[in-house]
Amino acid sequence: MKSSIEIGKIIGIPIKLHITLLLVLPLFAYIFSMSEQFGFGGVPSQSLRYALSITATLLLFLSILLHELAHSAVAIHYGSKVDSITLFLFGGVSSMGEMPRNPVFEFKMTIVGPLTSLALGIVFLGIDQILSVLGDNLYYFFGILGIINVVLFVFNMIPAFPMDGGRVLRAWLAGRMSYIEATRKAVSIGQMLAIGMGILGLLIINPWLILIAFFVYIGAAEEGKATEMSVPLEGLKISDLMSKEVISVPPSMNLNELVDVMFERKHMGYPVMENGNLLGIVTFTDVRRVPSQKRGEVVVEEVMTKNIISLHPEDPAEKALQLLFTHNIGRLLVLSEQRLTGIVSRTDIVRSIQIFGGKL
Ligand SMILES: [Zn+2]
Repeated sequence: MKSSIEIGKIIGIPIKLHITLLLVLPLFAYIFSMSEQFGFGGVPSQSLRYALSITATLLLFLSILLHELAHSAVAIHYGSKVDSITLFLFGGVSSMGEMPRNPVFEFKMTIVGPLTSLALGIVFLGIDQILSVLGDNLYYFFGILGIINVVLFVFNMIPAFPMDGGRVLRAWLAGRMSYIEATRKAVSIGQMLAIGMGILGLLIINPWLILIAFFVYIGAAEEGKATEMSVPLEGLKISDLMSKEVISVPPSMNLNELVDVMFERKHMGYPVMENGNLLGIVTFTDVRRVPSQKRGEVVVEEVMTKNIISLHPEDPAEKALQLLFTHNIGRLLVLSEQRLTGIVSRTDIVRSIQIFGGKL
């Protein structure tokens, strides 16, 4: 699974390079050094030719990084947590703690990336113009970088997943219909576009266009699949899928007793209650942190999680799916006016998807 390597941290975010980028960067350097039209193949001095090619490649890499950092900066500004940034062949992917479901936020977070590429393109092309007027031969160097950034802008604005344009389109549609409908529509628009590009690629015999069309088609399908998962839950409320029979444990129970309860009841997590008040939640993960010989002396209160992630019975069912996966937890408590009314586990959700979804 180690398909990327971490190269460092910027504003606390680990930056990773995907293997595809590691393969393609030397290729870019090579193309720059060979091509006379789109590179420095015409530069007479060999060492200068290589120096220019390598510098251009590094600046290209920095351009992609800046594009991605722009996404992350906006995400962080809106309170989202960015776990890492992985730079790929066609740009980057920011791994976020929480998927933005707010169209305005998603729009701003997405559009800022291509706009950064466009701004970089304009700056590089501007330098190109100034230097060419001054008669400096280096203008060519900035011209190439400018064009690449403008291409990155255009490519990323293709309104299809997994490009930024696909997300912009969905955010725009989601302002007019449900998030899932918007995703479906954006996926089908993206796939139609991919098919169109593929046909055009075959007609004008452009292998690049065919390759991009293929990449766009697959990417759109994947995004669609991820969202379809939550479709059977659409229209359902938390109260439709929660287990109302909640077994709670007292804070004073020791961990050996708790393990017995776990085996007996076959649930891995329990709310901790005292005099009708909810104090926290304790799961098998909490128990596992305590060595087995000490479990007789440690009580539930000492290991339980006090920070409870809860839902309301009237919340949409999708919210449970989202919270379970974002926080990577097994169960959520359902509270109504501070009172515990139910519990939703991953199993409950999977069961609901099977019952209501039929096809899954
Ligand atoms: Zn982007």
